[in-house]
Amino acid sequence: MNTPHIYQTRRRSFHVMAKPVGSTCNLACEYCFYLEKEQLFSTAQGEGMSDSLLENFIRDYVESQPTADIHFTWQGGEPTLAGLDFFRKAVDLQKKHAGGRPVHNAIQTNGTQLDDEWCRFLADEHFLVGLSLDGPKHIHDRYRVTRGGQGSFDAVMRALELLKKRRVEFNTLTCVTRESTGEALEIYRFLKKQGVRFMQFIPIVERDGEPSASDPVHREHERMMPWAVASDGLGIFLSRIFDEWIKADVGRVFVNMFDVVLSAWCGMEPVLCTFSRQCGNAVAMEHDGSLYSCDHYVYPSYHLGNLSENPLEAMVFSDEQRRFGRDKQDALPQYCRHCRYLFACNGGCPKHRFTHAPDGEPGLNYLCAGYRLFFEHVDQRMRRMAMLVRSGRPAAEIMADSAGVVGKNMSRRIGRNDLCPCGSGIKFKKCCGA
Ligand code: SF4
Ligand code: SF4
Repeated sequence: MNTPHIYQTRRRSFHVMAKPVGSTCNLACEYCFYLEKEQLFSTAQGEGMSDSLLENFIRDYVESQPTADIHFTWQGGEPTLAGLDFFRKAVDLQKKHAGGRPVHNAIQTNGTQLDDEWCRFLADEHFLVGLSLDGPKHIHDRYRVTRGGQGSFDAVMRALELLKKRRVEFNTLTCVTRESTGEALEIYRFLKKQGVRFMQFIPIVERDGEPSASDPVHREHERMMPWAVASDGLGIFLSRIFDEWIKADVGRVFVNMFDVVLSAWCGMEPVLCTFSRQCGNAVAMEHDGSLYSCDHYVYPSYHLGNLSENPLEAMVFSDEQRRFGRDKQDALPQYCRHCRYLFACNGGCPKHRFTHAPDGEPGLNYLCAGYRLFFEHVDQRMRRMAMLVRSGRPAAEIMADSAGVVGKNMSRRIGRNDLCPCGSGIKFKKCCGA
């Protein structure tokens, strides 16, 4: 079959996080950075995305994607507040405009609105659901509360059961706070017990100060909110989970961060934007059609235009957005440029680069200490897994390594004084064969 002309000629694909109800949410999670965005928009919150904008967006997005498959991402606020009919309409419009190309949908939700009708729809239309779940009740309800201050855990667990019952594909998104860094294994084991196979852990990094929708990215004051994760605490949190995961769960449970780090150790470009070399490939679109450089940069100075006036490609490939993308690399402090983990980290998300390097240079990532701690902790085992992957074997074989099996098998084929095939540049006996 010939590839349709439209996706042979475009430059590169990009993602749009579409927010059908903007920052509107039925919860009031204490650590949420998105609620303050209400000040930004002329369209009243709760009004949601109009039918004409929805169709304009779907048509434009489909046409702008150079790939055969088209991936839509719906976010908020709480996107399910747009209602089931909104998403039925969206799916119909996707079918109308996609011209037979496969369309995939992902939705990030707090889960509290999901009933059986919703879950049937999500299953029928093969949505991938990202469910926010911070851990067992006493951890989840610490910050994820309703506007009346009630915990949301019970509602989320009901949603989880319905998703499982309807066999909806889902993953969990777990926010990591200062307190929960000390509860790593409790959280990991809880999620596993609920049958979660795909997990994401998101560190909460919030600075103190008046909520400002203007441009707080480079605020002067650096006092952290009480719930913000401590940098080395994040490193310890990830390391504890990694140690448990690598004993029995490799290939059975997928932790986003571990997959991303392993791909970097395998010599691939990190797929998670946080650790990739450049930004700019995933823009955020608000319910009024306003486009912003990134979901983390929904501020007036990062406003790229409005879909009602400009096509998506013109905004995403604008000089302004290209500069935003390159800035991530151009603004790296020397400390990062000389870091042995630069290949995996790339300085992390620019939004979190508000601390100083040991030599006083500004622009170091707040999470640097935690990242370094984690990378250091997993380095040798990542090399072993990368070596397995490179030699065409499953990374899960690392689990046999507690008995030294991997090292022994490898050393039968690789001389102890040979250079290690993991690419470290040191002898096998001092590296993966140690
Ligand atoms: S670990 Fe720290 S120094 Fe190294 S690249 Fe990441 S942020 Fe920079
Ligand atoms: S600014 Fe942060 S969240 Fe946005 S694309 Fe860059 S790394 Fe990702």
